[in-house]
Amino acid sequence: VMAHKKLDDYTEDDLGQDQPITSLKILVIGESNVGKSSLMNRFIDDTFDPNMANTIGVDYRSRVVNVDGQTVQLGIWDTAGQERFRTLTPTYYRNAQGAVIVYDVTRRQTFERVEQWLQELDAYVNRTDVVKMIVGNKTDLKNREVSREEGQQLARRHSTLFIEASALENDNVQVCFEDLVYHILQTPGLWEA
Ligand code: GDP
Ligand code: MG
Repeated sequence: VMAHKKLDDYTEDDLGQDQPITSLKILVIGESNVGKSSLMNRFIDDTFDPNMANTIGVDYRSRVVNVDGQTVQLGIWDTAGQERFRTLTPTYYRNAQGAVIVYDVTRRQTFERVEQWLQELDAYVNRTDVVKMIVGNKTDLKNREVSREEGQQLARRHSTLFIEASALENDNVQVCFEDLVYHILQTPGLWEA
């Protein structure tokens, strides 16, 4: 149970113009088709498009949120198909304060690749400089291959946050990004000038 308000508990009026805006860069990584773009779009404007085109090139979307009394400009960086060619560049990783590493709970192979994504992340970003959240997506599907406990154990081994979610059903998507931001804000060295 988290002590802070949910993002949706805030109205536009709460986003005071008099306070400085903190800018955060959040990466979304993981194997193809696990739902990275779907999670981002669900978080940014509460949409889910099952026919979304798989455009190539880094996609970037932003949203202003208020977490723990702080106005935060979140820049979410999607890999937009480049993950399948392993062509993410240092620019993609540079200055990220948070990373969401996604797998599909119905495809064990995507879960087994999470450690490689964590290694890739560590190769570009000092491991203490980025807060990580492992996300098991597509919990709405019945043909699960990875248990919740396995996900939790993986996260514990790597000292990351963990959540299961469904971009389709909008389950745990807001709280996933909200919890990540909350933990980044708890670590002042990460975001203060
Ligand atoms: P990406 O390649 O990781 O960006 O994955 P996409 O967001 O493009 O999603 C890949 C496929 O999985 C698409 O057909 C989505 O409609 C579907 N998908 C994404 N999230 C979910 C989910 O939570 N549940 C279900 N059932 N399908 C999902
Ligand atoms: Mg995508």
